[in-house]
Amino acid sequence: MWNSPKVGILGGGQLGRMLVEAANRLNIQANVLDAENSPAKQISFHDGHVTGSFKEKEAVRQLAKSCDVITAEIEHVDTYALEEVASQVRVEPSWQAIRTIQNKFNQKEHLRKYGIPMSNHRELVQNTPEELAKIGEELGYPLMLKSKTMAYDGRGNFRVNSKSDIPEALEALKERPLYAEQWAYFKMELAVMVIKTKDEVLSYPTVETVQEDSICKTVYAPARNVSEKINEQAQALARKAVAAFDGKGAFGVEMFLLEDNSLMLCEIASRIHNSGHYTIEGCAMSQFEAHIRAIMDLPIPAKSLEIRQPSIMLNIIGGAAPDTHLKAAEAALSIPNASIHLYSKGAAKPGRKMGHVTVTAATMHEAETIIQPLIDVVDDIRA
Ligand code: ATP
Ligand code: MG
Ligand code: MG
Repeated sequence: MWNSPKVGILGGGQLGRMLVEAANRLNIQANVLDAENSPAKQISFHDGHVTGSFKEKEAVRQLAKSCDVITAEIEHVDTYALEEVASQVRVEPSWQAIRTIQNKFNQKEHLRKYGIPMSNHRELVQNTPEELAKIGEELGYPLMLKSKTMAYDGRGNFRVNSKSDIPEALEALKERPLYAEQWAYFKMELAVMVIKTKDEVLSYPTVETVQEDSICKTVYAPARNVSEKINEQAQALARKAVAAFDGKGAFGVEMFLLEDNSLMLCEIASRIHNSGHYTIEGCAMSQFEAHIRAIMDLPIPAKSLEIRQPSIMLNIIGGAAPDTHLKAAEAALSIPNASIHLYSKGAAKPGRKMGHVTVTAATMHEAETIIQPLIDVVDDIRA
């Protein structure tokens, strides 16, 4: 039996909160570094939490003192602080993995060496219209201008349809380090949660993700109308990409399925991921528990990562008013088989993830029928 281990988590948002839920069931104390009363701290009463930011060295040092292993619910952390404490405490995944992954350009340069297929891309060095126009000539339009760092929910992406969009694009992403990606003409977006353990790289089945305004709206597990061959290929690609990084834990791998059924990597997250929330109800072991087990070197039977029932996850995203998300949650109360997760983040802002709902059913068709009224409510709120 393990001996009351303590896990330190950089970040106490919804991902940290769901990690704490999983840790609690295993009698593992999770010490959270974030602001007072952050979502993860609200469900965990003990004196091991640290008040501060995952971007502050001193706070990371303080967290390291009280933990057996440190992990992060977000990739935008101070990896120099993690590098420093790595001599005293285990850091999972490695600070090197987080540092490379948190910069999307460096992430892709690294993965290129391992033969991972991805969109052609070019770095911007000066961020001038002339430089981007030259890249536009090389890669063609449309192209996706992307911030290398601090990107999430599409904030950091700008679609450049033609040369005339260049000034607006550079203005929208000004003062950020940039690179440009060739447009991916995908027919579907797929994702795979990968769990890296001390001696294995495991994966959950391939799911389908649907983004609206670059924010994940729904996840279908397993992916609809995707052959077993593509399911296997996507999992193999995801495992190969994650194997290129050091350290243990959950990694979210986003991919594009192109018209010719080939796969391309979109990006990797060095953490538990929105595309894996369905695993709480859909699988015997959630991505959160798998992450905790992986970083603590506890066994993970591969069978526990299989999908038990087709599942659909719907994000509840902040709308026009601070409380519209609660209307969606209220509507979900009357939906059969719906598991509601509210994150307790306080007032909503448009585009902010406030919660999610997962419906499981005997067939995907049944799950689609059950969840449709709730999708209608969410669409009304966002409209
Ligand atoms: P996340 O919240 O997943 O971290 P992010 O802000 O890091 O998002 P990306 O995952 O790079 O951004 O892109 C968000 C979405 O934008 C993708 O899911 C996809 O729908 C679209 N997208 C990104 N890159 C391209 C591309 N090269 N071609 C076409 N669409 C793209
Ligand atoms: Mg991202
Ligand atoms: Mg993404």
